[in-house]
Amino acid sequence: MTKFKLKIITPHGIYQEVDIDQINLRTTAGQIGILAHHIPLASGVEISEMNYMIDGKKTYFAVSGGFVHVNEHETTLIANAIESQEEIDLRRAEAAKQRAEERMKSHNEQIDMVRAEAALKRAIMRINVKGL
Ligand code: ATP
Repeated sequence: MTKFKLKIITPHGIYQEVDIDQINLRTTAGQIGILAHHIPLASGVEISEMNYMIDGKKTYFAVSGGFVHVNEHETTLIANAIESQEEIDLRRAEAAKQRAEERMKSHNEQIDMVRAEAALKRAIMRINVKGL
């Protein structure tokens, strides 16, 4: 397969620059697979699982939302946060899930529900990616 460059950037800087055969991710417009020579694209990315394929080997990641840009030379993923399956700390994600659920259950007006829901979504997604 023809490889193309994937750049993954986070608020901390470059997370990875790697030559890949394919990337599968969930954009705000739906699930997409990107191969070399994909048409140009710019889209939001959901809090979701992402994977890429190199020589038949798939590697899985937890993406906490972001943005993807595709041009004829490379694909760039700007992620709020990203962890590979190995990097995910399962206990931390489970603790974050519990905290978010407790926040959502307590009918405290001081609590930002949108923020709690997003935290819950990230935690569940990390737990799911770890379990793949
Ligand atoms: P927590 O409440 O546990 O910090 P969070 O969803 O609020 O979770 P984020 O703001 O999305 O955390 O991420 C902050 C940083 O911590 C990022 O660099 C992210 O990659 C890392 N991170 C968050 N949760 C985990 C986890 N379960 N395993 C590994 N790294 C994590």
